[in-house]
Amino acid sequence: MIDFGKPLGMGCLRLPLFDEKEPENIDMEKAKKHIDIFQENGYKYYDTSYVYHKGNSEKALGTLLVDRYPRDAYLISTKMPIKWMTKPEQMELHFQEQLDRLHLDCIDFYLVHMMERETYTRCEKWGAIEFLKQKRAEGKFKEFGVSVHDTPEFLEEVLTTHPEIDFVMLQINYVDWVNPSIRAGESYKVALKFGKPIVVMEPCKGGTLASLPEKASALMKAYNPDASEASWAYRFVATLPGVRMTLAGMPDTKFLEDNLKTFDDLKPLNEAELKIIDQVIEIINENTVIPCTGCNYCTENGCPQNIPIADNFGLINDMKRFENSSNAGNINRVNIQADYYESWVKNGAGPASSCIACKKCERICPQNLPIVSYLAEYVVPLLENWQHKA
Ligand code: SF4
Ligand code: SF4
Repeated sequence: MIDFGKPLGMGCLRLPLFDEKEPENIDMEKAKKHIDIFQENGYKYYDTSYVYHKGNSEKALGTLLVDRYPRDAYLISTKMPIKWMTKPEQMELHFQEQLDRLHLDCIDFYLVHMMERETYTRCEKWGAIEFLKQKRAEGKFKEFGVSVHDTPEFLEEVLTTHPEIDFVMLQINYVDWVNPSIRAGESYKVALKFGKPIVVMEPCKGGTLASLPEKASALMKAYNPDASEASWAYRFVATLPGVRMTLAGMPDTKFLEDNLKTFDDLKPLNEAELKIIDQVIEIINENTVIPCTGCNYCTENGCPQNIPIADNFGLINDMKRFENSSNAGNINRVNIQADYYESWVKNGAGPASSCIACKKCERICPQNLPIVSYLAEYVVPLLENWQHKA
């Protein structure tokens, strides 16, 4: 029996940074402090990948966790970046490199990263599942899983063909539970049907459920003034039967502390709270133009025009929130448009209108967003053309 500690895992896609525009530049002192707080409070699960923080996430865990704590004090999950590979030999090469980065001889959990149709086809062609079975048999990790970004039907197909898969990682949160482009509730049921333990990613939908529109926030505060918005999102997923672990990015100490408060005394949402969640979903859907989580996979995959896709989509959503909120803090339309100008003109990024529709970004987007259309429909008219007129 594996001792998982408390059921919150540190999502090392979002370690503390000095500057959000430099994801490779981890604030190691702050990350060390977060790991220490996590460990001291009985949490021990860390989820990383070959690509997070441009490779520095695994290295940070090697230095800050593995070198400083006994082997039984933590569990590390990392992922095979087959989607980013060009030849089968890289499966072995990258695996060895990951062990080196992590300073480990054996990992605890190893997943196929970004499993969707294209990745699956490559897995089948290259014998990736056989490779993983072999590594598991050699004791190189305890279990292997798949982090799935596709339909429930696809998940069913993969688990039927490969019953040897030990667990699944799914994007589940209360908005995507019934979101027709994600269908998280249906995928959850497929995993349960196959008896696979579930690790939840994006429980807060890239942080968006921790920063709700004013009207939604007011509903939650009226019911429980002491509970953070994020705590509602975590309680929704972490108490679902079959969920083994919930992952959360915690770049700020205040988020980390709030999450520990939620998970130290984890309770399912009651009926009244679930009714509030239904209302909140409606409000969010009214206020979200582009359901981008800000994961930045699209830009890390190398947009040839260097367009800051997630930044642009974030600004469009902020603009909508501003227009629908009586209290949007410092956000105002002019500031948002000026931010856009800063993001591409000053920092040399590409304007949305320079998109050549190569769809490299769309092929990797875990949310299956029609990025090219969104850029043309929203970013160009609302942000770029405004700047041209100014
Ligand atoms: S489709 Fe446009 S935004 Fe996407 S990668 Fe190609 S140029 Fe960049
Ligand atoms: S557009 Fe898709 S891949 Fe890019 S940041 Fe948003 S959710 Fe992630």
